[in-house]
Parts: sequence; C-alpha cells; structure tokens
Amino acid sequence: MTGTLFVVATPIGNLEDLSPRARQTLEAVDLIAAEDTRHTGRLLSHFGVKTPLFALHDHNEEKVVQTLMAELIKGKSVALVSDAGTPLISDPGYRLVSGAHANAIRVVPVAGPCAVTVALSAAGLPTDRYCFEGFLPAKQKARRDRIAALVRESRSIVIYESVHRIRDCFADLVAAFGDDRPAFVGRELTKMHEQCVQAPLAGLLRQLDEGDIPAKGEFVLIVTGSDETPALSLDIDDLLRDLAEHLPPKTAAKIAANATGESRNDLYRRLLMLADRK
Ligand code: SAM
Repeated sequence: MTGTLFVVATPIGNLEDLSPRARQTLEAVDLIAAEDTRHTGRLLSHFGVKTPLFALHDHNEEKVVQTLMAELIKGKSVALVSDAGTPLISDPGYRLVSGAHANAIRVVPVAGPCAVTVALSAAGLPTDRYCFEGFLPAKQKARRDRIAALVRESRSIVIYESVHRIRDCFADLVAAFGDDRPAFVGRELTKMHEQCVQAPLAGLLRQLDEGDIPAKGEFVLIVTGSDETPALSLDIDDLLRDLAEHLPPKTAAKIAANATGESRNDLYRRLLMLADRK
C-alpha cells in the first residue's frame, strides 16, 4: 500500500487558526515537508508536535520530490506545509503534488486559511467571480504591462503584494484603473494589527501616503472588476460569407457595413473577392 500525501493549510498569522484536523494530521504523519523547517518548527513546538521535518522549497523541490516520492511509494505518509496559509498558493509544492498524482498516490487536502479567501470574505466587493493574480511582476515596466492587461477584467482581481512595492503598486493601479474603482486592502490579516479597508483606489493610495494604512506587514489587494461591456470581436469575412449565403451581395455588404461601421463599397468588393476564392 502506498502512503498518503496530506496538503495541510496552516495559519496566516493567528496560531489559533490551525484546525484540530490539521494538528492531528501533523502529529500522525511520518514526516512533514516544510518550506522553512525553522519557521514550521516553531509552529510545531507551539502545538507540541514532534514529527520529523524535511525542507522542501523552490530551490530544492525537484531533488527532494524524488526522495519524498520514494517514501510515499514505500507506504509512508507525508504532510506538506508552507510557511503560512495553503501550500501551492504562491507557495512551493506543485511538483510534489503533481508527482503524487502521477504515481497514483492519494492526495488529501486539509483545508484551512488562505490569504485570498480571508481577504475576499472581508472585502465587501463582488466575490461571485474573481481571479487571483498572485504577485505582480517586481519590475515596474512588467508590472505596468500586467496591470494594463487587467483593465477590462470583469472579475474582482486579487493581488498579493510585498511591503516594499505596496505604494508603487497602488500608484500604478490608480494610473491604469482610475481613481474611483472600488478596492480593498487587507493588511496583517488575522494578526494583532489587522486592517481591512474598503475604499476607491485613489482613497486607498491617499491613506497609504498619509500613513493611515502603514506600509508595514503583509498585504492582499482586491480591485473590483470593470463593468464595461467587452468590445465585441467580429470576423468580418465570416460575417460577409454568412450574410451572402442568404442575401444578394449588395444587401449583404450593406448590412455588414451597418453592423461594423466599415464602408459599404469596400465590403462589397471584399465579398466579391471572397466569392472568387471559393
Ligand atoms: N500560501 C499563502 C496563502 O495561502 O495565502 C500565501 C503565501 S505568499 C508567499 C505570501 C503573501 O500572501 C504575502 O506577501 C501577502 O501578500 C499574502 N499574505 C499572507 N499572509 C497574509 C496576512 N496575514 N495578511 C495579509 N496578507 C497576507
């Protein structure tokens, strides 16, 4: 019998958020694969858990996965944790979990905190559909390009941001999305200095500049999606062909011109050319 890989969510700040099931799992498994063994060691000693720890981070994941897979295949049970929250959510573990599936090893998620859902639950912004952007690129040009690509996104956009870039990131968001887009900052969620602030983007930038939202700690940002109707994408040749199947060419060109704003004569000529190519 092969073992089981448990993917265990741990607190994002408040230790009381470790679920009883997570604690039992960490106690019961043969070993725990942790992003930072010292960090997880402190969590384990707080809860009196003595299970051996194994380091698994972005830099050694490929090598360590082989070792852990061998243990799982032998029948050992392994818990995967990250420094905070849910593993694989902007955290290591992807290779281990996909490797487990590839080797027909049972994968069991032990649900718990995740900064994305914690922030969404407190934001008071639309949550029926959202997209998770994770960390935006650190370099300014790449970050601005990414933000520009999101301007017409209709879902709420969840972003992780580091304290070093929080102000620049907000300035870029205001420049691209405008002053008034409703947004949210979740700072130090579940911790002593927790702040949950919902305001238009420019208001949040002002609060950051004035120190009402201190540039300290960990941040999740949420920006409401655009309510603009996306531009209709239309293939003019397809439209002309479809219309010409049912109508005389001149009428087809006239209707296509009305629908697209293109010149009726140009479309008529285009239609004749398409017919020639048949
Ligand atoms: N796996 C984690 C999760 O489930 O949320 C995320 C890990 S990612 C490396 C760390 C980022 O998550 C931080 O930079 C911050 O954007 C966000 N984050 C984590 N804990 C947070 C908290 N307590 N308050 C606000 N944001 C937090």
